[in-house]
Amino acid sequence: MDLGLPTICFDPDLIAHYDVPGPRYTSYPPASHFRADFDQTTIRAEIERSQAAARPLSLYVHVPFCATVCLYCACTKIVTRNRDAATKYLEHLDREFALYGPLFHGRIVTQIHWGGGTPTFLSVAEMDWLMALTRRHFELLDRGHGEYSIEIDPRTVDADTVWALSGMGFNRMSLGVQDFDPRVQKAVHRIQSEERTRTVVETARQAGFRSINVDLIYGLPYQSKRTFKDTLDKVIELMPDRLSVFNYAHLPRLFKMQRLIDPSTLPDPQEKLQILGLTIERLTHAGYEYIGMDHFARADDELTLAQRKQQLWRNFQGYSTRGGSDLVGLGMSAISQIGSCYAQNEKSLPEYYARLEAGRLPTARGIQLSDDDLLRRDVIMSLICHMRIDFCDIERRYGIRFAHYFTSEIRTLGRMVNEGLVKIGNTGIVITDLGRMLIRNICMVFDRYQQAGAPARGSRTI
Ligand code: SF4
Repeated sequence: MDLGLPTICFDPDLIAHYDVPGPRYTSYPPASHFRADFDQTTIRAEIERSQAAARPLSLYVHVPFCATVCLYCACTKIVTRNRDAATKYLEHLDREFALYGPLFHGRIVTQIHWGGGTPTFLSVAEMDWLMALTRRHFELLDRGHGEYSIEIDPRTVDADTVWALSGMGFNRMSLGVQDFDPRVQKAVHRIQSEERTRTVVETARQAGFRSINVDLIYGLPYQSKRTFKDTLDKVIELMPDRLSVFNYAHLPRLFKMQRLIDPSTLPDPQEKLQILGLTIERLTHAGYEYIGMDHFARADDELTLAQRKQQLWRNFQGYSTRGGSDLVGLGMSAISQIGSCYAQNEKSLPEYYARLEAGRLPTARGIQLSDDDLLRRDVIMSLICHMRIDFCDIERRYGIRFAHYFTSEIRTLGRMVNEGLVKIGNTGIVITDLGRMLIRNICMVFDRYQQAGAPARGSRTI
């Protein structure tokens, strides 16, 4: 079986046809199906069971604060210039770490990710304190052996902070750039100079960061194929190891700040497709491989190598090289994935604080996966990470006959087979080069919640 990475085929008409809202499958089922009647008894029982399996741990810490707001943003965040807000938040993280740490006694942490909001809203002293707190309650791999990543807003970080982060053990960073065009930056209220971004990238390399990811967004006000080409050229010059190129979802009814964006300034669907096509062309020409969804990585990057070896996994931070871990989410709105359940913390700060002050885990909702959920999660993860399903593998692990269990899904895929998006053989399903761009639509065929008529949610698939 050829495990080489296929190239991408770009068919604008077909892509436009499949441009519907859909999940991003950072979990299955998507978080919109988590239930409010899930409480901490369930998560505690699942953690206890997971201790026997002793899988490695991945820690996610959410820092929700941002000093200013970017108008396109759909993240869970709190916009404030009051730096003291962090003090109270860290006091509560202290309580949460103290509750969770003993439950995972003896487990090794192989990955840490700080996301937000803006983790660098915290001062260097506060970040140092938070890393020390983590070491006090969890067992971390020796320095340099774990993957420690942090989301960076270059506007809040100087060279000294980058060196300090390296000193704390961080070895990966993800930088928000979005677009370098001044007109676009002004329209989305995020002014960020190229110079500042370049300083952060260059310092990170000198300070020993092993992987640098840059986030871009297409579909923002005033963007066109011509303007975005300039941004792409400037970003390629920075030589990040990975790139995430997200599709802007304009949902002003859901996200209040997006109402400040004049819809007449947004590129029309045709222009957006042109920008997407150009992005794929420029990045692949510059030596990046298309991993899947919105992600690109250099040919020698761990993500690319993991995909070649069929060892890629997907979680709330996107693609990951460390499958088979339990993910512990700490902080307001953070999501944990332990064994066969997902659990999400309170999404409002007062409620998150109140639970912890009562000495309880701040879990607000979640879901215990059924056998069918677990099976479908594996099928969807295999598609989204490896662009294929191996029938024997699924049959052996779940004791089913694939063709029998998924009769109606295989029938539904018939149209996609005719359109050249997927191939179905006797031993498995393979996504074609043409189908790679439509991977979310293909996954949706196996999503029982979509089949049950779940309302169309999430960003558009293209
Ligand atoms: S994009 Fe990042 S920095 Fe901007 S408002 Fe959202 S979370 Fe904050």
